[in-house]
Amino acid sequence: MKSFEAVQMYFNMAADELGLDEQMRTLLITPEREVTVQLPLLRDDGRVETLIGYRVQHNSARGPMKGGLRYHHHVDLDEVRALASLMSWKTAVVDIPYGGAKGGVTVESRTLSKLEREKLTRLFVDKIRHVIGPDSDIPAPDMGTNHNEMSWFMNQYSRYEGFNPGVVTGKPVEHYGIPGREEATGRGVGLLTVKTLSRLGKRVPGSTVAVQGFGNVGSHAAKFLHDAECKVVALSDHTCAVYDPKGLDVYDALRHCNTNGNRLEGFSKGKMIPGDELLELEVDILIPAAIGGVINEENVERIKAPIIIEAANGPITPTADKVLFEKGAIVLPDILANAGGVTVSYFEWAQNRQFYQWSLDRVRSELEHKLAAAFDSVWDRSRERDLPLRTTAFMLGIERVAKATELAGLA
Ligand code: NAD
Repeated sequence: MKSFEAVQMYFNMAADELGLDEQMRTLLITPEREVTVQLPLLRDDGRVETLIGYRVQHNSARGPMKGGLRYHHHVDLDEVRALASLMSWKTAVVDIPYGGAKGGVTVESRTLSKLEREKLTRLFVDKIRHVIGPDSDIPAPDMGTNHNEMSWFMNQYSRYEGFNPGVVTGKPVEHYGIPGREEATGRGVGLLTVKTLSRLGKRVPGSTVAVQGFGNVGSHAAKFLHDAECKVVALSDHTCAVYDPKGLDVYDALRHCNTNGNRLEGFSKGKMIPGDELLELEVDILIPAAIGGVINEENVERIKAPIIIEAANGPITPTADKVLFEKGAIVLPDILANAGGVTVSYFEWAQNRQFYQWSLDRVRSELEHKLAAAFDSVWDRSRERDLPLRTTAFMLGIERVAKATELAGLA
């Protein structure tokens, strides 16, 4: 099943529960605008490589559209369209005044030098600057991009439109960013894991956790849970997976990555296991924090974790999701589990518009407040109606977007 088809399926399941009529369904699922651009990148070796970039603006009923910019070889229009739609529901679930968008460039990100990344980012801004802006569509980092791309993005935009740091979020703190943005998604995953455990009446200290993906999201989630005295027994990235049933020292793993080109490979604590095995470990909590579709019809029967927190976008395919629900597993869906990042992005945008620097304490406490409110609404409705958390999260998001659409008027 293609990515957008999967999102449409979840959308329809929630829309059925809400009794949404056909007209509203069509209006809400159809993207407002899709842009495809050609990016002729002059590579360091003198070749001109023609790359393709996308920006999909899904829905703006609740405010300017918001969504990451991904540099990855799997990027295509269907994936960007699916992720843009997820952003519309995600921003509504955490109740921030945004719509949803997403962008990407199809490129093997790891082959780009720093100069090539800067040139690519500036080219992309040149091609899409007419359709983005702090009041219309605000990009942010995603897979393969980070605060550096956001600085270049802001700078290139300002060459056309003048100073306006609110055009992107996820900027470095020294360059109009906000403290706590870098950690926000992973921290949110950690906070919501703890909330899930406590709602289930389970003890947090000593709970065992496996985290797939040790990049921005996975490493901050692992750190948060390590600090909360959970036992992080397995970690992986694209180079290897390590396992120790007695628990790994997440800080040791981070130090290793920082001095090893961001690679877990060569980390000597714990035993090496095949990457796929990490997903099948007997742990209390499984956190897929890397890429989409890793829990699928192939391996779902072997997944033993009773709690899965979707830190990545779309790590579980719809077929596997159904099997997990039938098995009684608790799946905290991506549109809630990883919403910490966009929530702090919103704080950064608000800060940029106020020309005022927020403190880390304020960011952390407002993040917790926003995520807790969204979690409680989704959890309570799921228990009342005996529905999966994913369906009730979609219901909450969809009904808020539908309400804004209705109030704005359709004539
Ligand atoms: P990242 O590029 O910083 O890290 C990705 C990590 O996954 C890396 O450690 C990489 O080595 C690892 N990885 C890739 N393929 C793997 C595989 N097959 N097996 C194991 N590990 C693998 O990206 P990120 O920002 O941490 O994003 C991770 C996921 O979270 C993505 O799905 C992204 O869309 C989602 N997400 C990120 C944010 C954010 O704020 N960064 C917000 C919401 C959602």
